[in-house]
Amino acid sequence: MKSELESIVGETPGVSYELIIHRFTGSDLSAPRVYIQAGLHADERPGVAAMHYLILMLQKAESEGRLLGSLTLVPHANPIGAAQHMFGEHMGRFSTGTRVNFNRDFPVPGEDSIRNLDAAGSATFAERRLKSRLLDLADECPIVLDLHCDDEGVQYIYAPERLWPEMADLAACLDCEAALLWNAGSDRAFEEAAYEQMVAKAKGGDLAGHCVTTVELRGQNDVDPALALKDAEGIYRFLHGRGVVAPDVRPAPVLRKDFVGKPIRHVDMVLAPVGGTILFHVAPGDRVEAGQMVAEIITDPGRECGIVAIQAPQAGFVLTRRIRRFIRMGDNLLKIIGDEPAVASRKGALED
Ligand SMILES: [Zn+2]
Repeated sequence: MKSELESIVGETPGVSYELIIHRFTGSDLSAPRVYIQAGLHADERPGVAAMHYLILMLQKAESEGRLLGSLTLVPHANPIGAAQHMFGEHMGRFSTGTRVNFNRDFPVPGEDSIRNLDAAGSATFAERRLKSRLLDLADECPIVLDLHCDDEGVQYIYAPERLWPEMADLAACLDCEAALLWNAGSDRAFEEAAYEQMVAKAKGGDLAGHCVTTVELRGQNDVDPALALKDAEGIYRFLHGRGVVAPDVRPAPVLRKDFVGKPIRHVDMVLAPVGGTILFHVAPGDRVEAGQMVAEIITDPGRECGIVAIQAPQAGFVLTRRIRRFIRMGDNLLKIIGDEPAVASRKGALED
């Protein structure tokens, strides 16, 4: 493994960020190239913890001569967001300098089909140069994993509809509980930009063997040694299956019996009708029926009319729920994958 430290110059004198890049060179040029990053939303740590164990496993495979494909790994993909604290609280989802979500607004090809990436020395914000560099690093890799997490949630992945069900091997290896399949834009998230790159470069339009995904490794507080090791082993198994690491005799994983794979238009974003204190009656992974009470919000403690019940809009599977128990009117309370489409079509990301 070779490690490099790249500098991303800040916008003001005396400020600079460091991006750590680990590279493994495989022995078989025909094996897939892989790019994996974690911590793009800097307040999401399950992926960073999984990368710790994964890197150790890959180093072992390398030392045993079992590494076939080459890998580029960026375990701390967002040193800018990692440094953002305000009044003692970490703020890692949005850039405080530009108010842009760190996983939105990645460069996409213009009408001339040329992606205008911002070079390291461009007179643009550091966040923009970082995004361009991350896309650069993923370029030419048919396998791209972007490790994230939700507030509180089951483990699930996003996948372009065109790469499904081929990508079900990743879901099975990770022991994922659900997949959301998309075919329209997601507000220029990293996954979408990397996918466009793949489509543009695929020979004859053939995307066989490709995989690009945002992996949601459960919730923000699901960071412990057992989960991190399980996730690292899942990714490692997937790399085995895709021929990146020399295969062994372990049986191929299969999808869970209760796995839920649906187009993204099935997602019901349940919003809080009032602000207040949340009492959840369901948890991620639960199955709910139409009209079932999923939560209550206390608005006026001690009064009978001071609590508002929220029902499931349709039967489905609880994917995620809010981590904080105080909520504003209009904030997202739960995501439920409905048995039926929640909307006729859905363009753009599920949330800001
Ligand atoms: Zn995220």
